[in-house]
Amino acid sequence: MKILITSEGFRSQIYFEFDKCIACEVCVRVCPIDLPVVDWELETNIRKKRLLNYNIDFRICIFCGNCVEYCPTNCLSITEEYELSTYNRHELNYNQIALGRLPMNTIQTILNSPQSLIKMSKPLLIKD
Ligand code: SF4
Ligand code: SF4
Repeated sequence: MKILITSEGFRSQIYFEFDKCIACEVCVRVCPIDLPVVDWELETNIRKKRLLNYNIDFRICIFCGNCVEYCPTNCLSITEEYELSTYNRHELNYNQIALGRLPMNTIQTILNSPQSLIKMSKPLLIKD
């Protein structure tokens, strides 16, 4: 498989960090189609929201990037992962686990950077 370098400003799969999310729902309000699903409950003893689940459905998302831009805790980021094709379209409804997986080409970029402290004993397998 050949990995292409995308052009500057390219927007694709969104990456989500569960621990940073405060369930404020700003991402829903700024989304032109109210797409992110933020499922939370109120912890009455500390009067604070606790995030239960978070979803973005990439069948519908238009990758405008509003949610990423306005999230107050920066728990959303745009990646350059463009290979979202699947045989089953329902798989494109990403929950917090799928959204929390860094795309392979992003991991490779991090590992190959001079600042990377993680060195792999074997090179990452890239299929031709
Ligand atoms: S805007 Fe950010 S912090 Fe707020 S609910 Fe959305 S992802 Fe979570
Ligand atoms: S990228 Fe745009 S369309 Fe997709 S979830 Fe975020 S705000 Fe909504």
